[in-house]
Amino acid sequence: MSEVSEIIRCTNFAAIKHKDQKRKDKEGTPYINHPIGVANILTQEAGISDVAVIQAALLHDTVEDTNTTFEEIQDHFGEEVTGIVREVTDDKNLPKLERKQKQIEHAPHASYKAKLVKLADKLYNLRDLNRCTPVGWSQERVTEYFEWAKRVVDGLKGTSPVMEDQLTQLFKERSIL
Ligand code: NDP
Ligand code: ZN
Repeated sequence: MSEVSEIIRCTNFAAIKHKDQKRKDKEGTPYINHPIGVANILTQEAGISDVAVIQAALLHDTVEDTNTTFEEIQDHFGEEVTGIVREVTDDKNLPKLERKQKQIEHAPHASYKAKLVKLADKLYNLRDLNRCTPVGWSQERVTEYFEWAKRVVDGLKGTSPVMEDQLTQLFKERSIL
């Protein structure tokens, strides 16, 4: 199958899986805008053309946020993509605070390809928070999210100068050092 065909098959899979979900913004943006946007950052800004990375970006929240299993991803998209998705998926059995702590701890040990997806995911979410505060979030919660993201991103250094520069700029704007 061609690379274009693989990417579209993957986008379609993710769109079906996320079809009933919305982002947390007040407009209720369709959730699929996020994984597509993450893949778009990787191709358009970070210059990434590795198909497995782009597929993993498209699928990165399917296991965490829908009924999708790793076995299903393995059957449809193979071992490499599944491995990357596994690396960027939080353990849902853990309480939320622990999951956030684990992201900080695991970031430096992730593979290069997983680090790319993580950086693009954080960049997208922080831009989204700048664009619009999620429903029910205080400014303090937004600030806490930026501070936590900074700690994760600190563990991803040396992966993508373009994305890291963009993230550094966002942290500077909020005086998060
Ligand atoms: P999060 O704080 O983890 O929510 C952020 C996540 O929501 C993002 O990582 C992103 O994940 C997703 N998301 C969806 N829509 C948007 C959007 N428009 N902009 C940015 N991100 C979006 O939420 P939880 O409900 O998991 O809360 C967990 C933590 O929040 C707690 O552990 C606690 O520390 C903190 N908290 C703080 C409060 C406060 O007032 N200070 C109150 C309550 C909780 P993805 O990439 O997966 O889509
Ligand atoms: Zn995400």
